[in-house]
Amino acid sequence: MAFENLSERIQKALRNLTGKGKISEEDINTASREIRLALLEADVNFKVVKDFIKKIKKEALGKEVQESLNPGQQVIKIVNDELTKMMGESAATLNKSKHIPTIIMMVGLQGTGKTTTVGKLAKRLIDKDKARPLLIAGDIYRPAAIDQLEQIGEQLNVPVYSEHDEKNVAKIVENGLKQADDNKNDYVIIDTAGRLEIDEPLMEELEQVKKVAQPDNILLVVDAMTGQAATDVAKGFDSRLDITGVILTKLDGDTRGGAALSIRAVTGKPIIYTGQGEKLSDLEQFHPDRMASRILG
Ligand code: GDP
Repeated sequence: MAFENLSERIQKALRNLTGKGKISEEDINTASREIRLALLEADVNFKVVKDFIKKIKKEALGKEVQESLNPGQQVIKIVNDELTKMMGESAATLNKSKHIPTIIMMVGLQGTGKTTTVGKLAKRLIDKDKARPLLIAGDIYRPAAIDQLEQIGEQLNVPVYSEHDEKNVAKIVENGLKQADDNKNDYVIIDTAGRLEIDEPLMEELEQVKKVAQPDNILLVVDAMTGQAATDVAKGFDSRLDITGVILTKLDGDTRGGAALSIRAVTGKPIIYTGQGEKLSDLEQFHPDRMASRILG
């Protein structure tokens, strides 16, 4: 389970404080040191950890805490609040267009779960919003990706726009959007190509798609299992495409959780959903406060 180790260690560091009537600077320093190590081992970005610990120390050493009736609880509250802030404070939602369709462009590296997540998101919009989405198959280099999306479309009874012979993705997207207009779809979700790593041709293609589609949302799909690297990937995509949010997949796996904790702080962009399994129903809204509570147990 994600965060298991991190949870345990932070809880342990804080447990030492709760029983104390008075907390000394030494106590705070010891707890901070343990929390710092736990976060680094969970693969949270180094600079994010540094800022976090600085804030915790500053607040925990504040007068009110030291003089309060229950200083240990106060420190736990400080850690909880700062963890929540680190992940973005409140739950973020999709941007909705004033006119239909609301356009969502999905980007990300290969294997992160992009195509699956297109299906998950479509299902969620259907279930929660009674949406009538159209999916556009823009990942034309991985031959199975188009078939995979068409199968997902069949499963959900949702139309999928694809062109098997066209090599210009922007053109496919343009044609797909025309079909969405004709059919009055209220959402369009565009699947795009991924690579094993960020490269120039990929970025240029995504920029072209962005130009043609003028998406209301550009969602970066990131694999939580990649840990620290996930934040570099997020920075890379964000600097070129100005993403609007992140979907963190595979949070059901044995991840250390660092990506979830760092991405917001590093890119300033919110995690909107998390993928929690391979089924199309395994997508959940991301709530920073609930995640913080889960980590603190
Ligand atoms: P793409 O190359 O980014 O389009 O990736 P795919 O959508 O083909 O997904 C790659 C693999 O990851 C597939 O086996 C998916 O079933 C799996 N996958 C996607 N999302 C999740 C998730 O949230 N949890 C788990 N455990 N597996 C996932």
